[in-house]
Amino acid sequence: MSSSATSVATESEIRSPQTPGPVLLMGAPGVGKGTQAKELVKYWGVPQVSTGDLLRSNVAQGTALGKAAKEIMQRGQLVPDSLVNDMVEARLKQPDTKRGYILDGFPRTLAQATWLDERLGGVQSALPLVAVSLQVDYNQLLRRITGRRNCPVCQTIYNIYSNPPKRDGFCDVEGAALVQRADDTERVFAARMTAYNAQTAPVVDHYRNLGRFVEVSADGPIAAIAAGIVAAVERLRS
Ligand code: AMP
Repeated sequence: MSSSATSVATESEIRSPQTPGPVLLMGAPGVGKGTQAKELVKYWGVPQVSTGDLLRSNVAQGTALGKAAKEIMQRGQLVPDSLVNDMVEARLKQPDTKRGYILDGFPRTLAQATWLDERLGGVQSALPLVAVSLQVDYNQLLRRITGRRNCPVCQTIYNIYSNPPKRDGFCDVEGAALVQRADDTERVFAARMTAYNAQTAPVVDHYRNLGRFVEVSADGPIAAIAAGIVAAVERLRS
């Protein structure tokens, strides 16, 4: 199983000496969790743990997990909890998560949330999890999803409407041809929203009820949203 798909900051990029602990980014598909996670990775110097990226990496490598997950992901449905929990367990055991990590796309069901709460409860020294719920309206989500393009080499995320590359279809950094995720179509977006409303919205309520929870508007410039998340997390930690 590979973790190469998740972002890790290089030393020169690290801007804050603070230890953020586990930070959970929640929100509907297309809200910008991946984009914001990458900003927070640069700011705090902790890794992004994206279950979507980890699963896509398994699919690309043809692992047993990838084979089990591929068609479920193409339909916009959720991969079974036990498979995802095992994958997260392996990732969180890696030493780069000691100061904290940015959870992106996990937990997505109440069963995953319960599993994570129990796991975190068993780590004495760990800071408690802080949950950030990102919010934008439905039409923007649709534009963000159908306009999203990724660089297959450096993973930079573009949007053909709001954040286009300088040269149409090619990455500014790598010059590589940009790709669109197979599940970023309008039809699969509808299925992903259905899964979100049925299975993931209750997870937002779960963390709201536990406290250490904040809602942040994800509408506006990327850096301004990231600054809002950092300020909210640091407020909850103080
Ligand atoms: P994402 O990149 O977070 O939008 O995830 C893409 C797809 O991967 C989802 O539509 C699901 O099929 C699958 N997936 C990602 N994270 C999870 C999770 N925590 N639980 C179940 N399935 C997941």
